[in-house]
Amino acid sequence: MIVFDLKCDAGHVFEAWFGSTGDFEGQQARGLVECPMCGSREVAKAVMAPAVSPKANRVVTDAERKTELARLAKLRAEVEANCDYVGRSFVREARARHGRTEEDGEAARGIFGEATIADAMELIDEGIPVSPLPFRPRQTADA
Ligand SMILES: [Zn+2]
Repeated sequence: MIVFDLKCDAGHVFEAWFGSTGDFEGQQARGLVECPMCGSREVAKAVMAPAVSPKANRVVTDAERKTELARLAKLRAEVEANCDYVGRSFVREARARHGRTEEDGEAARGIFGEATIADAMELIDEGIPVSPLPFRPRQTADA
């Protein structure tokens, strides 16, 4: 036996059992399949809900999580080693340091700190390259 979700021309959805797909098709062709709610014989198989892509639904493995955490830790170490933390002075410092060269020494180092999205967008508009960091600075924002 096989169960089908069926739908009549009035939109009623109901389940019906058949010996096989061919059995259903034969009975449908002869008008023997009837909607239990309204008696309509204009009945067809209801459209099944689309399946969710198994990839989108995928569970992240422990190994993948570790790889991602390691990548973030490395990025964070690089930023902390090569850039100066300026906290909430970020926007001011970014403008002050923008355009300085290697010869300016310390001032040519990158900086990281805190800025609002609006401030960051303004800097980008001014041609100052700004990137969001995928972590929160270790330091407090009092700097
Ligand atoms: Zn019906």
